[in-house]
This record gives sequence, structure tokens and C-alpha cells, in this order.
Amino acid sequence: MSLIFCIECGAKVSEYAKNCPNCGYPINKFRTNNQGITYEVTKKNNAVWIIAGYLAPLLAVFLHPIFTLVGIFIGAINIVKGSSLHGSLQIIESIFFGIIGAFINLFLFIL
Ligand SMILES: [Zn+2]
Repeated sequence: MSLIFCIECGAKVSEYAKNCPNCGYPINKFRTNNQGITYEVTKKNNAVWIIAGYLAPLLAVFLHPIFTLVGIFIGAINIVKGSSLHGSLQIIESIFFGIIGAFINLFLFIL
């Protein structure tokens, strides 16, 4: 069992508590990750962000290199949300596909 910080009042609360004993905020809706960052637990949203983080870099190749920045941005969001592995992979993927996208655009411009 670990203690987390209430997002509303900052009190230390058991992560298994339903509500903050100090202010009554619903505890089961948020968690604190190992960097001490408190984030809302919205598993459905997390899945959407993780999928978006892997898809955005692909758009850099097929649509526009600007999606490299979108991919890096979403990767950073996923790291903050607690998915460090996915976030890191997405940033690496974004840079990789960003370079490929830039070359493709360069060749299209020359031709
Ligand atoms: Zn509280």
C-alpha cells in the first residue's frame, strides 16, 4: 500500500481510499507516479493517447513532417501521464519517421 497526494488539497491519502478524508475528493480517479506527478486515471483516454502517439509519426511520412512534432508532443504527454516506455518509444519513432518524412519531401520538391 502506498500513499498518494490528494489532487485537491494535497493531503496524503491511501491509494485505495475512495475519497480524501480531508476534503472528500474522489481518490480512485487519480494516481501519483514515481516522479511525484499526480494525474487523473482515465484508462480509456490513456489508450487513445498511446495509440495517437504511435500513429502521429506515421503521418509525418505520409502527410506532413509537422506530425513529427505532434508525435514528440504526444510522447511527452504519455510520459507525464505515467506511460514512460510508450512515451519514450513514441519520441524515438517520431524523430525516426520525421527524418524519413523530411527526405521524402525533399525529393518531391526536387522532382
Ligand atoms: Zn483532499
